[in-house]
Amino acid sequence: MNSKASVKFNEYGVPVSTSFDDIYFSVESGVDESQYVFLKHNGLPARWQTLKKYECFTIAETGFGTGLNFLLTWQHFIESASPDSRLHFISFEKFPLTVEQLQQAYALLPEVESISSQFLAHYPSPEPGCHRLTFAEGRITLDLWIGDINQLFPQWRGQAQHKVDAWFLDGFAPSKNPDMWQQALFETMSVTAHKKTTYATFTAAGVVRRGLAEAGFAVSKVPGYGRKREMICGQFQGGTVEPETSAEPVVIIGGGISAACCALSLQKRGVASKVIAPNIADGASGNPQGAVYPLLHAEHTPLSCFYWQAFSTARNTYRQYTPEHWHASGVLQPAFNEQREQRFQKVAGDLYNETTVRYLNAEEANKTAGITIGTPALFYPQAGWLTPETVVKSLFEHAKSTFINDSVERISHSDDGSWSVNLESGERIHTKNLVLATGHRFNELLPLKVDNLPVNPVRGQITQVKTSDSLKPLKTVLCYKGYLVPESEGLHCLGATFNRGETDFATRPEDNEENLQQLTVNAKQPWAEKLQVVEQRASVRATTPDHQPVIGQLDSGLYGVSGLGSRGFTSAPLAGELIAGMICGETLPLTSDALARLSPARFRR
Ligand code: SAM
Repeated sequence: MNSKASVKFNEYGVPVSTSFDDIYFSVESGVDESQYVFLKHNGLPARWQTLKKYECFTIAETGFGTGLNFLLTWQHFIESASPDSRLHFISFEKFPLTVEQLQQAYALLPEVESISSQFLAHYPSPEPGCHRLTFAEGRITLDLWIGDINQLFPQWRGQAQHKVDAWFLDGFAPSKNPDMWQQALFETMSVTAHKKTTYATFTAAGVVRRGLAEAGFAVSKVPGYGRKREMICGQFQGGTVEPETSAEPVVIIGGGISAACCALSLQKRGVASKVIAPNIADGASGNPQGAVYPLLHAEHTPLSCFYWQAFSTARNTYRQYTPEHWHASGVLQPAFNEQREQRFQKVAGDLYNETTVRYLNAEEANKTAGITIGTPALFYPQAGWLTPETVVKSLFEHAKSTFINDSVERISHSDDGSWSVNLESGERIHTKNLVLATGHRFNELLPLKVDNLPVNPVRGQITQVKTSDSLKPLKTVLCYKGYLVPESEGLHCLGATFNRGETDFATRPEDNEENLQQLTVNAKQPWAEKLQVVEQRASVRATTPDHQPVIGQLDSGLYGVSGLGSRGFTSAPLAGELIAGMICGETLPLTSDALARLSPARFRR
């Protein structure tokens, strides 16, 4: 697990770090201090008033702390920035506060109450890495990076080159926390700066002034807030021009969750999408119910790290855009044999936050599930289930995509650098940016000059059963080797079989039996065999040999998302943010190592 903040609240109710012996914000007024030091001395909100439609203003902050700077910036941005412009707030925090600590701190900040309550409702489980959240219909993007800036910056600054418009330097005082004011900080500021980049900080310490000056920033001393005599601020003296971004419409091929999430993320950036698919949500994204939870291993692996970050974005997305289809029921994994019991105890040891996962004894598991589980279990309190088909349709609606209900015959590269998409109807569509979100059929459409990727099909059949007296009280999703979802309209979805290499959509009676048997054997539900099967559905998922999805650039202007396996609804919202961020030239919410692990290029090495 990451480090926790040691916080006490002083006699004024202000949070104080006991490790650093320093306050999070001013005793006089946190809000006024934040506004004076960070907003005013970065020329904000005035600089936001000239932003063009959908233009994005990027702020990077050292030390998220209580998030006061973020909340205040969000509030002022919505009040004063030009219409439809966007804010990208990127903040780094080594010792994240708990929800309870944040709540207590916000009691002192009534000025930002409506925003702080929204933020708290979406506060992610602060596992290491980046948690990408969006608010205010996509106008506000937060990248909350959990970890030490000295480790994160080298993994982040490459993709953030010349992209930060303002820096908020808000670590604890340099004398109390020298680690935070090292060369890595000043170098990163310089790499990420462009001609108009500014910074502001509450301190005027010599080490900070020298570091900033050496990194190419002007250093002006101005009166500090409250009891602080001086603070510093200034502008980058380097010559790089701000990067321009274009918003040409993007063509997306595919009608499932990854296509829908790419379309939504593009729409937040003012980029229209044209979606080509014979049908919407008719493949692996078309099941009646599906679970959304992070894949956790008994150690921090790159794969589990990807999934807990993806889960934060997924939860934030469904809760905001499809609240009526998202059921925050929690997910339970019964420890149905000794091996699992040991592994689960390790998972729930001290690897993860309690808000991510915890170990329940058999009695607690029964109570949480609402039915008898009879074994201990892992519980994911923030996880839940959704109705895939309706979610995909609703996300496409939010994305305001236009649709072409047709199949693609071929795509090819034109001489002018754009892509041509030939449809079965004979129509031909040209586009500068093209996204392939075609699941297991990914390789079929790749143009000649792009090598095939090892994306493999896995057929899966789900079974819908009628609810029964034994099943009706089920409150959480159960994930054993298969899964069982709480009742929806009198039915439960049971899933799913796993046939590697098969692409057959025809349903099979023996697959229903297998699904029921999993429930009897692995979820230890003796009544399972008596359940009445009402419906079944087979679809094909796409997998990769290393189990990491494929998310990234295939060629100039050509992007791909595939290999999401049976966790597409967990990973697709982050995939959408990544693809849209790549197309729009933004700073991305993953480390450079994590991006390389997702990149289609990993198979070419
Ligand atoms: N901006 C915050 C706010 O609005 O509440 C206040 C930030 S507080 C003064 C400084 C923060 O820096 C603390 O939350 C602390 O945990 C964090 N911090 C200290 N050392 C760090 C490091 N090496 N990397 C990342 N964060 C660090």
